[in-house]
Amino acid sequence: MPETVNIYDLLKSGEAFLKSKNLPDAKSDAQYLLAAALKIERSRLVLIREQKAGEKESSLFWEYILRRSKREPAAYITGFCGFMGLEFKVSKDVLIPRPETELLVEDVLNMSKKNKTETVLDLCAGSGCIAVSLSKLGNFNKIYASDISFDALTLARENADFNDAKNIEFLLSDMFKSLENVKVDFIVSNPPYISEDEYNALEPELKFEPETALLAQDNGLFFYKEIALKASRHLNDKGRIFVELNANLSQEIKKIFEENNFKDIEINEDYSHLPRVLKAHL
Ligand code: GLN
Repeated sequence: MPETVNIYDLLKSGEAFLKSKNLPDAKSDAQYLLAAALKIERSRLVLIREQKAGEKESSLFWEYILRRSKREPAAYITGFCGFMGLEFKVSKDVLIPRPETELLVEDVLNMSKKNKTETVLDLCAGSGCIAVSLSKLGNFNKIYASDISFDALTLARENADFNDAKNIEFLLSDMFKSLENVKVDFIVSNPPYISEDEYNALEPELKFEPETALLAQDNGLFFYKEIALKASRHLNDKGRIFVELNANLSQEIKKIFEENNFKDIEINEDYSHLPRVLKAHL
């Protein structure tokens, strides 16, 4: 890149390159990555479009564009992702927080009494996006965040510090195995729920994400069965569970919770009218 190129030309050439590689959202990807390379808000790009781009920023932008052209998700490239109006660090050790998962968080917030008495367990916490959002936006006594991955839990803890979320306890555990003494009012989980057949058909971006955070045995049902079977031992009287759903399996999942005596099972849809959140109580 010649040093004299201005912001607008840089943006357009990055966009054209991504388009030539058939990236579906070339324009918005290029804007997002340029703003990140320049360390500015995306909305400011238009204001500085005539300014010359620095050499360092230009080469960083091209490095980002090259990575994106190989279908690496933009959040891994910049290292950050927005969720519930908060900012989260992400790495290849964790799933990138999804907008659909915000509905899960909102359901828990709506069900809470907001009087600092209730406790929550976030199972399969990953980046910590659910636990940290609940801590910041709700009014809970305590939140437990557990995950099987030490590296994920380390990042979740960093995200708690980064967002100044205080009442979270991080627990390394394979599902309920190391949580004998944890008893809460709400269990919330976005567990791995992709079956092997579904996994093979996923977009290339998903292959950058940790397989353990996505794939579930038993045709995608393994973790729902674990939760339905064991959650009652970790819930207080009338305790509630909130799980994110694999939209293709919603009726099977509902049946699993019915068979394990959960009551008033409700399923909420996401923005695409797909069944996305299941809630129920003991
Ligand atoms: N709870 C995290 C999220 O919602 C991680 C979920 C997972 O790893 N399956 O993004």
